[in-house]
Amino acid sequence: MSIKVEQLTKVYGTQKALNNVSFEVNNPEIVGFLGPNGAGKSTMMKILTTYLEATSGNAQVNGHDVKSSTKEVQQSVGYLPEHNPLYLDMFIKEYLKFNASVYNIDKSRINEVIELTGLTPEVHKKIGQLSKGYRQRVGLANALLHNPEVLILDEPTTGLDPNQLVDIRTLIKNVGKEKTVFLSTHIMQEVEAMCDRVIIINKGEIVADKKLSELREGKVQTVIVEFDYRVEDAFLKKLPKVKHVENTYGFVYEIAFDTQEDMRSHVFDFAHDNNLKILQLNQKNASLEALFRELTAN
Ligand code: ADP
Ligand code: MG
Repeated sequence: MSIKVEQLTKVYGTQKALNNVSFEVNNPEIVGFLGPNGAGKSTMMKILTTYLEATSGNAQVNGHDVKSSTKEVQQSVGYLPEHNPLYLDMFIKEYLKFNASVYNIDKSRINEVIELTGLTPEVHKKIGQLSKGYRQRVGLANALLHNPEVLILDEPTTGLDPNQLVDIRTLIKNVGKEKTVFLSTHIMQEVEAMCDRVIIINKGEIVADKKLSELREGKVQTVIVEFDYRVEDAFLKKLPKVKHVENTYGFVYEIAFDTQEDMRSHVFDFAHDNNLKILQLNQKNASLEALFRELTAN
């Protein structure tokens, strides 16, 4: 297990940024941490990289506890922060050398990471002269310097133009063949393009954890049901294998189930047992896009 998060909560003052979050990431695997702005992605990543302490709960990276073994965690993880603080006046090599010396890393590794991240053609430039795409490569090179087992990348593709996007995606996918990559994004297409698995977070809570292969097979199922009367969402959540309930309009509800089994008969029985009449009952398969929209709609 490369990353293990157990019932983690983070409160800033009165704001709950993470609420009882649990998940695991294996090695090697590229996992997308997908959620709208403000969902809690950066907060989670700062806790996993020991920049922030959780209010409660546990997290381990590479088997090391983030609270009690910060040094081991830092050695295991390469981190590309959301707003990567680069020294614009430094040359690429100068910057990497500086960080290598801070962390006691062999200088030979600098050329390796430059090669690995495709920085060679721009290596004579100062960071301030680089495009956003190349600056991200510098950030990635820096994250890879100490050859960590786990890479934590906070919105690595945000703000890139389409060509840069393709290049960085390819780079991350290559790195992900040997390492665990946990990357955040608010853009669903990034997950499709790079990830083996997606963990969707909304308002500090995990609302889905799915393999992309499963999603493509349409294992997540949505049943659209119309009753003759209003039903509380919480009541519908008592149905087996429910992932999410949304009252789309009137007395129409979209219920997402975490199974391939046709759940319409369960909904029918549920209505019968609770003296509800069904006016409409349909099933649809949700793609990742639909899933993301459904789970983060409000
Ligand atoms: P994301 O990266 O998914 O956009 P963040 O983890 O940055 O989300 O933020 C989650 C929530 O916590 C947001 O509502 C944000 O406003 C709040 N938040 C983040 N950092 C702080 C902070 N230092 N102090 C107070 N609230 C914060
Ligand atoms: Mg963020």
